[in-house]
Formats: sequence, structure tokens, C-alpha cells
Amino acid sequence: MPAPSKERMTDIADPLNDWITASTLPGSDGLYFLGTFERRITFYSQQVRAFRLVRALHERGILKPNDTVAVVGGGAAGVTCASALGLLDYDVSLYDPAVEVLQLQSASPRLLHPHIYEWPAPGSLDKSAGLPFLDWDLDTGKPIAKRLAAEFHMRQVSSKDRAHPLISRCSVLI
Ligand SMILES: Cc1cc2nc3c(=O)[nH]c(=O)nc-3n(C[C@H](O)[C@H](O)[C@H](O)COP(=O)(O)OP(=O)(O)OC[C@H]3O[C@@H](n4cnc5c(N)ncnc54)[C@H](O)[C@@H]3O)c2cc1C
Repeated sequence: MPAPSKERMTDIADPLNDWITASTLPGSDGLYFLGTFERRITFYSQQVRAFRLVRALHERGILKPNDTVAVVGGGAAGVTCASALGLLDYDVSLYDPAVEVLQLQSASPRLLHPHIYEWPAPGSLDKSAGLPFLDWDLDTGKPIAKRLAAEFHMRQVSSKDRAHPLISRCSVLI
């Protein structure tokens, strides 16, 4: 999947197979990577990749009801991925050694802009990410991380029939 240039990532049509291929390493059956093989990695772009991959795996029937899914890393990609999987009622566990999700941003005084990396494309100055959930507006990293972490935990609590906590604090060797 080439990094989008002129279009907003959420506006691109529906190439489910491309989204899966972009996250797959040949021979790594059942293992998917978000952004590893991509040119542009931003907070927003990782969230979009997470939404796309979960949608593609779900709609293509690669994920089946009652499948268990491990998500490694509680950054933008992992938190979005785990929340989306939970919403679709998959049995998901998120693994991260940190005490809280979104560690990289949670102490950051840097401004986080959802679309500025697409400048000068139309919409690149929009201050809202415009995502279906775990949405956020232009701000510094700390308040964004705090808000999104709170939403993530709220979704964890409201997840149906959850037998174990969504997040496990440990490092995973892949
Ligand atoms: C200094 C700096 C400034 C940046 N500024 C911006 C900016 O202004 N705007 C912007 O959009 N983006 C910015 N970025 C990029 C942005 O931070 C990344 O795009 C985003 O964090 C990627 O999210 P991610 O979930 O893919 O990875 P990460 O946020 O890196 O999250 C990965 C997570 O995986 C966990 N992990 C790692 N190894 C393991 C393991 N073995 N087992 C379990 N868990 C593991 C880590 O603890 C971490 O929580 C910046 C990055 C840096 C470093």
C-alpha cells in the first residue's frame, strides 16, 4: 500500500486485499504488522492502518467468530487495533510492558497534528482526525494520549463477555 499523498487516508476506496497484503510478511501466516513496511508512520496513519486491517480481516472472513487475537504494543496502532477487534467481539488481548498505553505520547509536549503530513493536500489543515472512534483533535501529545487511553479503558470495560483484561503488561517476543 503506497502512502497516500493527495487523498485523506479515510477517503480512499476499499481495497481490502491491498490492506492485508501491506501488513503481511510472506511466510508469516496469521501474523500482521502495522506500518512496518510503509514510508510514512504517524499517529493518525497508524490508527487508519489499524482500522483498515481489522476491517479487512473481518470482512474477508480471515478472522472467525471466537478467534483469539493477540495485539503486541499499546501504541496508536495497537490500541486502535485492539479496540476495533473488541468492538467486533473478538477475544483480544493487548500486550505491552508499559504501565499505561500510549506511552510515547503521554509525556510529550510536542504538537500532534492529524493531517499536517499530507500538506498541501486539501483537508491537511483539518484539526480533527475524523476517525469513527478513538478520535482526537490537534493538541499536544499528553492530553491526546490521556483522552484516548480513557476511551480505550472504557471500551475494555464495556466489551461483551470479556473473561480477562484486555491489556496484559508484558513484553512479547516475535
Ligand atoms: C520523537 C518523536 C516525535 C514524533 N512526533 C510525531 C508527531 O508530531 N506527529 C505524529 O503523528 N507522529 C509523530 N511521531 C511518530 C508517532 O509517535 C508514531 O507514528 C506512533 O507512535 C506509531 O505508533 P505505533 O503504535 O505504531 O508505535 P509506538 O507508538 O512506538 O508503540 C509501540 C508499542 O509497542 C510496545 N512494544 C514494543 N516492543 C514490544 C514487545 N516486544 N512486546 C510488547 N510490547 C512491545 C511499546 O512499549 C509501545 O507501547 C513521533 C515519533 C517520535 C519518536
